[in-house]
Amino acid sequence: MAEMQNQQNAFLEEGAKRIRGKDAQRINILVARAVANAVRSTLGPKGMDKMIVDEMGDVTISNDGATILKEISIEHPVGKMMVDIAKTQDSEIGDGTTTAVVVAGELLAEAEKLLDNGIHPSSIINGYRLATTKALEFYNAISYKIGPKDSKKLYNIAVTSMTGKAAESSSKLAQLVVDAVSQIAIEDDKKIVLDNDYIKVEKKEGASLDHSELIRGIVIDKEIVSNNMPKKISNAKILLLDVALEIKSPETDTKIQITSPDQLQQFLDQEERMIQDMVDKIIATGANVVICQKGIDDLAQHFLAESGIMAIRRVKKSDIDKLAKATGAKVASRLKEINKNYLGNAETVRETKISGEEMIFVEGCKDPKAVTILIRGGTQHVVDEAERAVVDALGSVSSAIKSGKYVAGGGACEIEVAMRLRDYAKDVGGREQLAIEGFATALEIIPRTLAESAGLNPLDILVALKNKHKKNEIAYGVDVLNATISDMEKLNVIEPTEIKIQAINSGSEVSQMILRIDDIIAGSGRSKGGMHNMPPGMGDAD
Ligand code: ADP
Ligand code: MG
Repeated sequence: MAEMQNQQNAFLEEGAKRIRGKDAQRINILVARAVANAVRSTLGPKGMDKMIVDEMGDVTISNDGATILKEISIEHPVGKMMVDIAKTQDSEIGDGTTTAVVVAGELLAEAEKLLDNGIHPSSIINGYRLATTKALEFYNAISYKIGPKDSKKLYNIAVTSMTGKAAESSSKLAQLVVDAVSQIAIEDDKKIVLDNDYIKVEKKEGASLDHSELIRGIVIDKEIVSNNMPKKISNAKILLLDVALEIKSPETDTKIQITSPDQLQQFLDQEERMIQDMVDKIIATGANVVICQKGIDDLAQHFLAESGIMAIRRVKKSDIDKLAKATGAKVASRLKEINKNYLGNAETVRETKISGEEMIFVEGCKDPKAVTILIRGGTQHVVDEAERAVVDALGSVSSAIKSGKYVAGGGACEIEVAMRLRDYAKDVGGREQLAIEGFATALEIIPRTLAESAGLNPLDILVALKNKHKKNEIAYGVDVLNATISDMEKLNVIEPTEIKIQAINSGSEVSQMILRIDDIIAGSGRSKGGMHNMPPGMGDAD
């Protein structure tokens, strides 16, 4: 046996570690399940928070699957694959990260049982593939319709999405989210155009979550360039510039020969004239606020201040773009071309001190297509978690508007889809039938976990839920807050279908990917880290 292995490893460097076949699969499944277990207890409104302390002693407290997995350091490659599901879900939609990871872990747990019964991985993978396609069909089939004007339903989606995070103020924040999304949605030829990039989420600690607000305009973390400028301008006419208001310093190889004091004076006069000329062009447009992506030099500041114009410099390009959407301004790249048509409008532009730091508020814009949600909260941890809740909810609400569909939460949709999958499995038959049934059982991890978090007996609850669903009460799920089962649609626990589809899809995909691996070989170690990257359990495998 040892000899055979030596032969198999003949092409490997001496001492290189290798694990094959069943052992490789078992280890990978173990790691994936461990990662899923690490976030499982955060699921749902009664989910627990995790506190992560990094090497520097910085603390993150969160209930958000993606955040937790991003913060904990995971070395094993399969562990990293699990983290990637959370990251993808987070960037595609925002919400449903824990669901995706937990479902992936459970699909692998079910796969392990099938492997134990001698079923080949390729049959399992086949069955999972069939099950995924059907599951997505079923999620769509049990969806309810929703439109961009259904503010009440959208609000409920936002509240469900914020579950477990910033709970005490979720009603306030959920309303801000719905207002923000409705404000920037553009109905174009019956199609909804919605780009969440134009909702800026700005946070500042101090005050309480209830002081969070929607700004009809943009808040930027900057200050006015000069103390001689007004701190507040009403009826603002705003010029957005992406060129600097300064004289470019001469190229390195050009030398200017100045031989007399007269010449120096001439040179300075000329520079002053050029700056004055730039500022005159700005004054001629009628602008009273200048917001510049680049620098503004002292002389330009002086002339602008003399004319009572407020100026802000070195503003990020992304903020300039948002300001353009909010105020209707056109960004100017050449001073030559500017005129009054470039200007945008806002009721006021003001500099305000918020917990010790200056911020610029460009607000009261008329029908702005970019807005800001300003989150306030007692401590850094509170505003951070509130921000994650708001970002999740923004993703959910806009996803619901875009696809126009939602499902009942609290595990209701998972129970229904699992039951339909079991019926479908019978039609398929063979070994795939077993895999599809395993897939159905894996989906039930969601209601099971929610029941546990409410202190209920998960087995009893699953039976009770299935009985309801058999009687066509397909919205019945776990009412976690009241520790019972009820109609989740009536209880307003609803989620966009897209979240589920994305979560099931990526969870299923990664579980198949992991099942396909039957060989783990440690790389040469020349690239990075070497044996440090070896999965646990590899040390004694040669
Ligand atoms: P994820 O990261 O997957 O979004 P969450 O911790 O946000 O995880 O939990 C989402 C789950 O909690 C969903 O299945 C959702 O339906 C459920 N849920 C949310 N609010 C409630 C509620 N009030 N009662 C029961 N289930 C709820
Ligand atoms: Mg969530």
